[in-house]
Amino acid sequence: MSTVSEVFGSMVFNDAVMQEKLPKDTYKALKKTIEDGKSLQIGIATVVANAMKDWAVEKGATHFTHWFQPMTGITAEKHDSFIAPTGDGRAIMEFSGKELVKGEPDASSFPSGGLRATFEARGYTAWDPSSYAFIKDDTLCIPTVFCSYSGEVLDKKTPLLRSMEELNRQALRILKLFGSDATRVVTTVGPEQEYFLVDKEMYQQRRDLIFTGRTLFGAKPPKGQELEDHYFGAIKPRIAEFMKDLDQELWKIGILAKTEHNEVAPAQHELAPIFSTTNIAADHNQLTMELMKKVADRHGFVCLLHEKPFAGVNGSGKHNNWSISTNTGVNLLEPGSSPHENAQFLLFLCSVIKAVDDYQDLLRLSVATAGNDHRLGANEAPPAIISMFLGDELTEILESIEHDGAYDGKEKSTMEIGVHILPKFPKDTTDRNRTSPFAFTGNKFEFRMLGSAISISGPNIVLNTIVAESLSQYADELEAAEDFQEALNKLIKRTIKKHKRIIFNGNNYSDEWVAEAKRRGLYNLKSTPEALPYFKSEKNLKLFTKHNIFTEAEIVSRCEIMLDSYCKVLHIEALTMLDMVHKDILPAVIQYVEKLSSTALTKKSAFADVNCEVEQTLVTLLSDLTSCLYRKTNKLEQALVAAKEYDEDAEKCALYYHDTVFAAMQEVRAIVDELEVNTAKSYWPMPSYSDLLFSIL
Ligand code: ADP
Ligand code: MG
Repeated sequence: MSTVSEVFGSMVFNDAVMQEKLPKDTYKALKKTIEDGKSLQIGIATVVANAMKDWAVEKGATHFTHWFQPMTGITAEKHDSFIAPTGDGRAIMEFSGKELVKGEPDASSFPSGGLRATFEARGYTAWDPSSYAFIKDDTLCIPTVFCSYSGEVLDKKTPLLRSMEELNRQALRILKLFGSDATRVVTTVGPEQEYFLVDKEMYQQRRDLIFTGRTLFGAKPPKGQELEDHYFGAIKPRIAEFMKDLDQELWKIGILAKTEHNEVAPAQHELAPIFSTTNIAADHNQLTMELMKKVADRHGFVCLLHEKPFAGVNGSGKHNNWSISTNTGVNLLEPGSSPHENAQFLLFLCSVIKAVDDYQDLLRLSVATAGNDHRLGANEAPPAIISMFLGDELTEILESIEHDGAYDGKEKSTMEIGVHILPKFPKDTTDRNRTSPFAFTGNKFEFRMLGSAISISGPNIVLNTIVAESLSQYADELEAAEDFQEALNKLIKRTIKKHKRIIFNGNNYSDEWVAEAKRRGLYNLKSTPEALPYFKSEKNLKLFTKHNIFTEAEIVSRCEIMLDSYCKVLHIEALTMLDMVHKDILPAVIQYVEKLSSTALTKKSAFADVNCEVEQTLVTLLSDLTSCLYRKTNKLEQALVAAKEYDEDAEKCALYYHDTVFAAMQEVRAIVDELEVNTAKSYWPMPSYSDLLFSIL
């Protein structure tokens, strides 16, 4: 058994390996390219490629792939082998600098939202040297960005890198004014990932899980999560084996998997890595999700990453812990110990407050998917309303600054920026509110609205860009100021006054908050079709084009892709429902009815005056329900046919799927669940919620 430190990163072409395998000057040049975010010279690439190939072949790799993140939300790869003919019937292993830096996948089948016509399907992938190459399944994976030849961005990584770069640029302007010697600012992310494990054999008996990732039917089990005995409960041996195996696999490719525990719902678990730079965190989260599925399979499980696999049971989310730090080791969202540091902290804090208030709509839509619609606004995840939790202490301090009043803390003093130090608030008091969608947790913000299945790139592109926008406005103002201190004071006060409506420390799940948020003028975008069109609003187009994150055409196309994907998800769910009703559920219930009827007949013929009340009641009930079900499925079928009318208008189409198709699906489900309750288990054609949730020992 190898030790963790031997295993960790053993399949990564990381800095230590580069130092060991590359000639000194090549290493230096590569390092500089990585640090400056510049593109790589082909001469250097050739040397790097060769060393990378030798290292990979030594580790048993036979193929390489450009690993990228198209708009599908999952990762894509096309494998090529290293093999090259020598001309004398033999073959050698080869990998050129050109193959390292650029690839040309046939891109015609990836969604582009109309950006790229199929006949010019050529897109190219280019190495992102800021993310290390690694080996997975005997394949050297090279993290890359994905663009079209005419320059449009077709992936999730490019805009993420751009947003990080822009935040770096704007934050450095601010830091310079504070006299900092930092030369690079990065955002960091630690995504906590929730997931369900179900038994593979049972999974295979449920076409809804296979086709849609969630159960479309299922009566509530007698026991759910009400006893709260699963949260942090003892991990069952089979699950523990899985977690151990998963950790090993993640560590090999350099992912800092740190904590694993049971979650609130039965069969639900969580994995949290140690945070890293945002683009690495995004790459690693994609890999984590992929490996969860693969390792689960080895253990006879299926890993469900859907946001709501089971109705009536908590769904799965992802907590995006986000912060900003400098290459001088300062976390800019951590209150410091000197007045100077605190002035800086307050300014960065204000930049986030302003950003979240100004761009609530963008944050909301960055987590909008068909799957996540089952969670947001329901009683388990934050509501669809964006607000921020700062904690009482910090909120009081901001109030004291706004009103030049006494800060009512222990010292009863006024709070003057740049003169006083902030009182130390213990970390645990800043983390108590679990109902907030966007909570300050002492030295970072935790954005809790993400669905478990999405790529974290989207929400982080938004976060980085909106905070970069606040900082750029601040920098414009402060750079032009004659008296920095005075201008800083004014700016912070003004931000608090103008944007404090976004701060809410109370219970986000309460009905009062919904009413209060409305009074405050905050958005409440309840569903995906309602939220997505805001992407294209003038304010948001201006933001993204100003900072060169997206062009207008790219935004329009991305919006189109997301709306289209929403409709497709619902369409597949509806078809799966119809298929299961017609092929499995109706036949099963009819068989049970036949059994009940023949039992009654047999009983009657043997004993004329025997009591057949149960058989009769059940037959009547089930017959009524099946006939009702038949009508409801017809209605759903018609709703699907009518959806074709909206083919040309993605926004209208998505709304239609939400208002009409989804509503019809709910009706079908309600009847089926009632049928399940009244049908003998041996007749029911699929494993029940009890089987799925409570069978793993
Ligand atoms: P909880 O479950 O209480 O929210 P966890 O300890 O499970 O907390 O997760 C906290 C996450 O926040 C971890 O992934 C951790 O690495 C991450 N984190 C800590 N500090 C930072 C930071 N400065 N920037 C980004 N993420 C951070
Ligand atoms: Mg958390």
